[in-house]
Amino acid sequence: MLNVESAVVVSCASAGIAQAIAAVIVRDDDDLLLNLHSSSKNVPREIILPKGHNVNFGAPVDTMVALGGGKVIEAGFANECSPTQLSAKVTPQTAAILYIKSHHTVQKSMLSVSEAAAVARQHNLPLIVDAAAEEDLTSYYQSGADLVIYSGAKAIEGPTSGLVIGKKTYVEWVKRQSQGIGRAMKVGKEGILGLTLAIEQYLTATKETGAEMVERMGEFIEALNSLPAISARIVWDAAGRDIARAEISFDEKMIGKTTYQIMNELKQGDTAIYFREYKANEGKVEADIRSVSNEQLNTIAERIRLLVKGM
Ligand SMILES: *Cc1c(COP(=O)(O)O)cnc(C)c1O
Repeated sequence: MLNVESAVVVSCASAGIAQAIAAVIVRDDDDLLLNLHSSSKNVPREIILPKGHNVNFGAPVDTMVALGGGKVIEAGFANECSPTQLSAKVTPQTAAILYIKSHHTVQKSMLSVSEAAAVARQHNLPLIVDAAAEEDLTSYYQSGADLVIYSGAKAIEGPTSGLVIGKKTYVEWVKRQSQGIGRAMKVGKEGILGLTLAIEQYLTATKETGAEMVERMGEFIEALNSLPAISARIVWDAAGRDIARAEISFDEKMIGKTTYQIMNELKQGDTAIYFREYKANEGKVEADIRSVSNEQLNTIAERIRLLVKGM
């Protein structure tokens, strides 16, 4: 379905990262498979990661690499990573290059997946791409990644699960991890079948475009802008995906509450409402309306109206 050499379903994207790391360290070594963390065998364990990709996606990337028996070596700086800076970190101890394709990461002055693939090829190293929340199931593999990891429960809208696609040898090495660390992250048969069906549906479903999201949010944004101390506008996905969101700003002084306090209140009601809170420290949150109906949008606007009622 995905035009890749091979694929395996895992329990979640995080498990996919850990097992992909273990796969490139252990490869087909039977002893290392059984003694991943305790073995003193001198094999490459360094995983080069652009510094701006060393993020906390809900759990730290670094922790998943360590679970897989690897050691993160950061390349570049907090605000940039070029192919040269990535390449400069390669040593005989390098096991792979890891690239996190995500809105969580630093976007500016960051090399592309194809550029990272070129560096990997140049040094004869595998490239692992964590594309957990991405919507494109083919482009990173086509750009030259050896393993690409997706979350089954994000864009694909499947059950809690993960998908690892890639070159046959590497995927076989990932599968071998079910006799190693993979056993602690075992995926259920329901997960395997559920994700497979979800992918089938995902590939044929017509997806709501960003422009359609803008259209659907029009009334919602208008309603919010008619309220005191609140303003709303359309913003586009920082990672470049075709997703439009409503950015809602709260005048914390006028409301007399911090945005974090407002968010907590909205989570407590009969209908718990959660926003993207990455910019709550700046008094802004984002509403992502994928999987949110128009009726639910009205409920959200009404709850926010009650918040500033009487002001
Ligand atoms: C969500 C996410 C993960 C983890 O995905 P799970 O399926 O929840 O384990 C890993 N990396 C990135 C960049 C993510 O956004």
